[in-house]
Amino acid sequence: MIRLTRPQYNSIPADYRSVWTNEAHPELIGKRTAMENSVLDAAGLPTRPAPSGLILEGIHFEIIENYKYRLTSRGQSSDRLGLCEVCFKHVADVHYLVESREYKPGRFTRHKCIDVFGHKECLEKQRKN
Ligand SMILES: [Zn+2]
Repeated sequence: MIRLTRPQYNSIPADYRSVWTNEAHPELIGKRTAMENSVLDAAGLPTRPAPSGLILEGIHFEIIENYKYRLTSRGQSSDRLGLCEVCFKHVADVHYLVESREYKPGRFTRHKCIDVFGHKECLEKQRKN
């Protein structure tokens, strides 16, 4: 399966990508579609000789999120900052994890991302990549 980051998929010209809406195949409704060569090109892979067919998300390609994390010590214990938000136990050195997600090449957002206080070890297990 071809793997694309969201910015790579979004870099495909709008005329070559879409979302499945044909009710003849209701199981596919909402899946992203694209012309095969445009996906290969976006992924940096060699394109195939024409014709380039329609390919489907979840069957031929998948969108992977590119996450970035910042983990910092807050220099204080649970006495001031509260219990670990993962295991709900006392923390001697509270850490803070902030997640962000690439939405355009090199541009990150914290929208729909996590931010958590707790043990360093508990927070490291929250990372998605
Ligand atoms: Zn913990």
